[in-house]
Amino acid sequence: MKKTILIIVLGVVILVTIVLLRTFSFTAPQFSNTLSPVSVKSDGSLLSQAISYETISHKREMRDDSVFLAFHSFLQKSFPKLHRQLTRELVNEHSLLYTWEGADLSKKPLILAAHMDVVPVDYASRNDWDVAPFSGEILEGNIYGRGTIDDKGSLIAIMESIENLINQGFKPDRTIILAFGHDEEIGGNEGAKAMAVILEKRGTRAWMVIDEGGTLANGIVPGIEGTVALIGTSEKGYVSLEVSADMAGGHSSMPEPMNALEAVNRAVHILKENPLPDRFSEPIQGFIDHIGPNLPFVQKMAFANTWLFKPVIYNTYNKSASGAALVHTTQVVTMFNSGLKDNVVPTRARAVVNYRLLPGDNPQDILSRAKDLINDTIVKVTVYDDFAVAASPISDHSSLEFEFLANAIIAVNPNAIVSPYLVLGATDGRYYYNITDKVFRFSPIPLEKEDLNRIHGVNERVSVKGYEKSVSFYATLIKNS
Ligand SMILES: [Zn+2]
Repeated sequence: MKKTILIIVLGVVILVTIVLLRTFSFTAPQFSNTLSPVSVKSDGSLLSQAISYETISHKREMRDDSVFLAFHSFLQKSFPKLHRQLTRELVNEHSLLYTWEGADLSKKPLILAAHMDVVPVDYASRNDWDVAPFSGEILEGNIYGRGTIDDKGSLIAIMESIENLINQGFKPDRTIILAFGHDEEIGGNEGAKAMAVILEKRGTRAWMVIDEGGTLANGIVPGIEGTVALIGTSEKGYVSLEVSADMAGGHSSMPEPMNALEAVNRAVHILKENPLPDRFSEPIQGFIDHIGPNLPFVQKMAFANTWLFKPVIYNTYNKSASGAALVHTTQVVTMFNSGLKDNVVPTRARAVVNYRLLPGDNPQDILSRAKDLINDTIVKVTVYDDFAVAASPISDHSSLEFEFLANAIIAVNPNAIVSPYLVLGATDGRYYYNITDKVFRFSPIPLEKEDLNRIHGVNERVSVKGYEKSVSFYATLIKNS
């Protein structure tokens, strides 16, 4: 008996020692403040003007082509030196591909991607805005309007940084390519996808591609009060499954034991009862390694010992929808159609379940898994449409390219913690893996917690100061590359 107690005590002591040792030796990868920052002054007026062009992405047929062309003219007028120094190509009439040829052609080009299209402002919410959503008005130090965060803020900051560098007499060593899509919000097929194909056909191998998707998060990452630069190293995949049944209907006074609606309802319920398992994908493991050492002690201990505390961490993440989305492939019923009349048994029922896939899961596996779980010959399970795509490849966060990007970020934001991240939505970035394996999703526009709802929402805005820093970030990035 005594011996058993002794063994247990010894075991606990060893366990605690390991946990503490791992916690105290848990340090984040260090990025150095070695790049010389370029400081650019900007009053945000060019971004403000850019917002007034209503470059809205509807369905393709609803697009107002003249607005996109007017936006192009605005860029030419606003950045005259850039347009003299860089070559400019139109891709599918509206996307813009610029090349600033470097002196050293042995260096692979840096590609800066952004998109000029914006989502519409829904009519019902127009009056909730503090200013007219396409006015670009500057109010109390903030530039308001649709597209300020997503993604004209980055696009105009890139151009402003280059105009400024040209003014200083700077000539790049490394070729800089700007790829500005016009249809990101509706899939990016004519824009980014086409530009990536053109570059591939030319034999371009990019050093890295930097696109939107990550952010300078102020007070957004739980446990950290300051700024975290989240660099998206992968983006989740996407598939919708249609779950349907066709059966004889009939009069509701003499119902059969099962009908189409009930069969589909049962199938959807089974899926709901079987969520996909929690796991740390590589970008999130990277996030844990970079953020963990900066957390308060208890959280730091958990992150330093995921081998022991994984269930606790999953539990914490699963308390919020945004946290849960980081640690598993999500599934949610988004459509359910059946029934016409209260006294008629429906002959057909259909539900659609949408999945956002962690790296490693693919649409075919999700389909087979759903079929196996439902295991019902009456119910048909198929892929709903042709948007199905696996998660993007993962860009290596221990690469020199990631380190360079991180160094450029802290040259301008010295107190920021830099971390890899998993992007939950889709960006144009995924199309560029044919010309590089380093696609990093990061916009230098600083965001506060309340700003997250402004993206695609009401009162989208950036601060003039934050925008100005973004211009400095791109200038620093380009000048040091
Ligand atoms: Zn965007």
